[in-house]
Amino acid sequence: MNTKLQGVKYSHMSFSDVLFPRFCLGCGATGSFICVRCEGLLSPFEINTCFYCGSPSLNGLSHPRCRRPKGVDGFISLYHYNNLFKKIIKSIKYNKAKIILGDLNHLLGKNLLKTPIYYYVKKFPGLVAIPVPLFEARQKQRGFNQTEPICTYVSGLLSIGQNTNTLVRIKDTPMQTLALTKKQRRENIQGAFYGGSPPPHILLIDDVVTTGATTKEAAKTLKENGAKTVVVFSVAKG
Ligand SMILES: [Zn+2]
Ligand SMILES: [Zn+2]
Repeated sequence: MNTKLQGVKYSHMSFSDVLFPRFCLGCGATGSFICVRCEGLLSPFEINTCFYCGSPSLNGLSHPRCRRPKGVDGFISLYHYNNLFKKIIKSIKYNKAKIILGDLNHLLGKNLLKTPIYYYVKKFPGLVAIPVPLFEARQKQRGFNQTEPICTYVSGLLSIGQNTNTLVRIKDTPMQTLALTKKQRRENIQGAFYGGSPPPHILLIDDVVTTGATTKEAAKTLKENGAKTVVVFSVAKG
């Protein structure tokens, strides 16, 4: 620590507070990245839905009629991807502000345990959390992969293993926006991952699922490489 700072009492401040003063991403109030008022504006999902058809489903499991052999078997998401959430994710991505994730994790901890996530932990013994990876050049540019600290936090909370080496992004892809057609999105993402030797049961972790094309391709790659189960957790869903 800088000697000038020694002896100064920062009762509620950490070193990172000095480097990154906290402002609420929603309203600009100081103190945290998501203030209590704006936290109330985040919109949690009341029920779990099928990854494919979006209709309610028990524990977020893909309906038997919707399930695909190389697809997503279950899906849990916490929040609607609303404007506030868009701001939060954008700041995390572009400000390289890892510290924002600390505040996000605080929210995750409160809400994740209200979901049927433990159902997956029990149903799929040896479940391992794997973050959706970024393309290496993009990760270098951004400084970090924002899904990794989320994955670390979630695996710690659930006391399950995590694996950040198995799934690798081998192709950079343009933003999977809704402006693209379904076919274009599928073509963009095809072959984007390398699957290594994955564990049998995987909890795939993502920050936001919008079109689902990336998630589907990651699940397909993991299953083609031997995974039996791929369930997905995303903080938000568009
Ligand atoms: Zn606020
Ligand atoms: Zn369905």
